[in-house]
Amino acid sequence: MKIETRCVQSGYTPKNGEPRVLPITQSTTFVYDTPEQMGDLFDLKAEGFFYTRLGNPTVDALEKKLAAIDGGIGTICTASGMAAVTNLVMTLCKAGDNIISSSTIYGGTYNLFSTTFPKFGIETRFIDVNAKNEDYQKLIDEKTKFIFCETIANPAMTVPDFERIAKVAHENGIPLVCDNTLATGIIFDAFKHGVDFNVYSTTKYVDGHATSVGGAIVDSGNFNFLGNKRFPDFNEPDPSYHGLVYAKDFGKMGFLIKSRCQIMRDTGAQLSAFNAFCTVLGLETLHLRMPQHSKNALAVAELLKESDAVEWVKYAGLKTDANYELAQKYFNNGMASGMVTFGIKGGREAASKFQKALKLFKIVTHIADSRSCVLHPASTTHRQLSDSDLIACGISDNLIRLSCGTEATEDIVEDIKNALIASQK
Ligand SMILES: *Cc1c(COP(=O)(O)O)cnc(C)c1O
Repeated sequence: MKIETRCVQSGYTPKNGEPRVLPITQSTTFVYDTPEQMGDLFDLKAEGFFYTRLGNPTVDALEKKLAAIDGGIGTICTASGMAAVTNLVMTLCKAGDNIISSSTIYGGTYNLFSTTFPKFGIETRFIDVNAKNEDYQKLIDEKTKFIFCETIANPAMTVPDFERIAKVAHENGIPLVCDNTLATGIIFDAFKHGVDFNVYSTTKYVDGHATSVGGAIVDSGNFNFLGNKRFPDFNEPDPSYHGLVYAKDFGKMGFLIKSRCQIMRDTGAQLSAFNAFCTVLGLETLHLRMPQHSKNALAVAELLKESDAVEWVKYAGLKTDANYELAQKYFNNGMASGMVTFGIKGGREAASKFQKALKLFKIVTHIADSRSCVLHPASTTHRQLSDSDLIACGISDNLIRLSCGTEATEDIVEDIKNALIASQK
């Protein structure tokens, strides 16, 4: 089936007489007739739900839908995007291991990698995502467990050369992990271009309506852990699960079983059934929303490019953009998603006037929902930093981040046009 049909239909198929719409299973627990049946579930000999931390029918439907959209073998949903990244690291790494990560990634992930995981003995080696193969090779050693990048970096807007990076990863026997939050499966078919695992903040376009914080890891099934010496925890018995050997006992499902039955079991951070329900509703229109987000962002980027009130614009869909070629190579139908960043002439003062003059675009700490929104990082998310610290992390004091919604293009362009004029008065 085509991706549009998978967005609408996959994940939940009611049987005779069952509800047409996915039910919200608001129950922590599930009933069985015999202790032997329950025992088989604990032994992973039978499939079924027994406790919502480890699985819930509503969450399961969302997991199946996300896997179907991306063309993966399965998904684990989590309480947030940060919980998804955390689960991924804990499934693949232990103290003494390291990760190679693009340096231009979401601020929360950057902090997790640069500050929190080092406290648990997991080091991250940051790299310019489009650095040469030999620069990657220099950072990889026998303790390296994966390479991490973002499809469209937030807010740096860089696009990786996925196939080249995947080749370096695979030659070293490690997977390539991509945070596909800003593109989604509609814009970027990650598994066709060498990515092994997608992670998502489903909080953003996947939900698309700003109702539910959530996250997910989707497994392509292409990375082989069996016999891979870098991953002893997949090839040796897990004493906390009476001796299971994930890669041997579960084949391709080994990663997802370890992620759920060990890491989710021990750390929690599961998605609630209600949030899964809202996210499924949102996903049913993902294929309709992403083209409109992309169309609106391109119109805004083109307007900004021509404006005297603007110093620079970053948007991978603009022909003049540094990432245009890569976006054309990897993204479907020329789409480049809904986020645009630009530098306004006149620094902080102009940035403030610009935001106050906007009518449709609201000031919120969010991106990627159907309503247009704006953020000035230097006075909000990054306000604790000095001007020199800001420059060091690639955020100038005049940087404005726009998230273009799904409203009419004309209305969005008009709003930006008026606010640009007001910013220079
Ligand atoms: C928001 C975001 C995250 C974190 O997700 P939460 O759901 O807020 O925990 C991770 N990666 C990217 C690219 C994001 O935009």
